[in-house]
Amino acid sequence: MASASNVPKPRTLKKWTAEFKWLEIRENRMYCRLCTKWQKKLASCRNYSDAFITKGSNNWQRSAVNEHNTSAMHSDANGHENREILGDQFRKHVVHTIPEDNPLKQCFARMSENERHMLVRSFEVAYYLAKKGRPYSDFPELIELEKMHGVKFLSSYGHRNACKEFIHFISVTIFNENVKNKLLRANFVSVLCDGSTDSSIVEKELIYVIFVDPDTFVPTCSFFSLKEPISQDAAGIKQAIEESFQQKGLCDTLEKNGVPILRWCSHKTLGWSVG
Ligand SMILES: [Zn+2]
Repeated sequence: MASASNVPKPRTLKKWTAEFKWLEIRENRMYCRLCTKWQKKLASCRNYSDAFITKGSNNWQRSAVNEHNTSAMHSDANGHENREILGDQFRKHVVHTIPEDNPLKQCFARMSENERHMLVRSFEVAYYLAKKGRPYSDFPELIELEKMHGVKFLSSYGHRNACKEFIHFISVTIFNENVKNKLLRANFVSVLCDGSTDSSIVEKELIYVIFVDPDTFVPTCSFFSLKEPISQDAAGIKQAIEESFQQKGLCDTLEKNGVPILRWCSHKTLGWSVG
């Protein structure tokens, strides 16, 4: 058994370096490859210690190596390393459009693998509920089930309101990928709308777009927006459509490529041109 000052046998050291990939042994001292690499970022750490960095440790006990391995500083170094690896493959794609100083981006950058895993599971559960037309109130129970399967969740993510937010972001992403990005490249866009009253008997306009998919050349009809028009006449509905295009950042598309809009209402058809 190694004592604090006695260097263990080569066989033991070999075992240690195999187990702790970060461990480097030079001139009878132990160094951490990761903490050395990220020293500048770690220097402001509350429990910063240079034992495995500049000085090198000569505390030749396995418990000391273990202690460094589980220290907050070392897990920070691990985090920096993982983010660097992930940065090229994944993180850049996901967050490249968010400004550097955005709190969301900083939060995402600090996320551990576990937290990312938890978020992915939450989004999957929310997507399932939306797809199956289930109520938000099913969400907490399904999260409990995920917990039984070993996924660790933060309590703030298990609420039905969280489910609502997840579904909102999923819908924005799906809309941007499947509708907005294609509409921006489509040569012509037709807009359909029809009225419907919700549970509070407020008249709503369901707005759909029809366009030829620029990638597959298949005519496509997609849900676009649900709006509450100021009035039920042509002017009110036209305004609702224009507002919905504005809100989705597509007003140029409507102005340049819009074709006559038709509204079917019981037995009559109202039509006007916006082009
Ligand atoms: Zn370390």
